[in-house]
Amino acid sequence: MTEAPPPVAPQPTPQKKGLAIASLVAGLLCCAPVGLVLGIMSLVKKDQGGKGMAIAGVVLSALGLIAYPAVLIPALLAGKGVASMGVCSVQLAKVGTMLQNGDSAGADRLVSESSGACPLVLVSHQGNPSEPGAIIAYCQGHTIGGQKMILCLLGDGSVKPLPEAEFRDALGQAP
Ligand SMILES: [Zn+2]
Repeated sequence: MTEAPPPVAPQPTPQKKGLAIASLVAGLLCCAPVGLVLGIMSLVKKDQGGKGMAIAGVVLSALGLIAYPAVLIPALLAGKGVASMGVCSVQLAKVGTMLQNGDSAGADRLVSESSGACPLVLVSHQGNPSEPGAIIAYCQGHTIGGQKMILCLLGDGSVKPLPEAEFRDALGQAP
């Protein structure tokens, strides 16, 4: 009886920790989907070391994924609010320029053309230098960081977002 060949000694493979480290870093940095994928790849691949780090990466990433909607959705909404407020800001500034040039018809036209997502409202056809804070025109408002901000064209020609309560007060004092 011949002796069975000795089992091939498991190669002392150098531990590859790259994936595990990358997973952990991605998990820590809240790149949750990346961390999750890298961590799982690291755990599945036989030649990968750093199991502890990979598991930590997967756990952190999974927690991150759960937290994502809570963090991301308001951030996205705020971003959208800021972006559309930018459009209104440009429109209101144009209205202000037209009124300062005495182009009431042009201002009216711009306001009537703004009947999209955020229609503008024209309060007065005249910039009022004696009441620089008076609201000349305003838009429907944008929710930024959970607070509704009304974008206003003021008597001095500036465009300024006002919190809703402040806006109501200012509007009450408008001519
Ligand atoms: Zn607006």
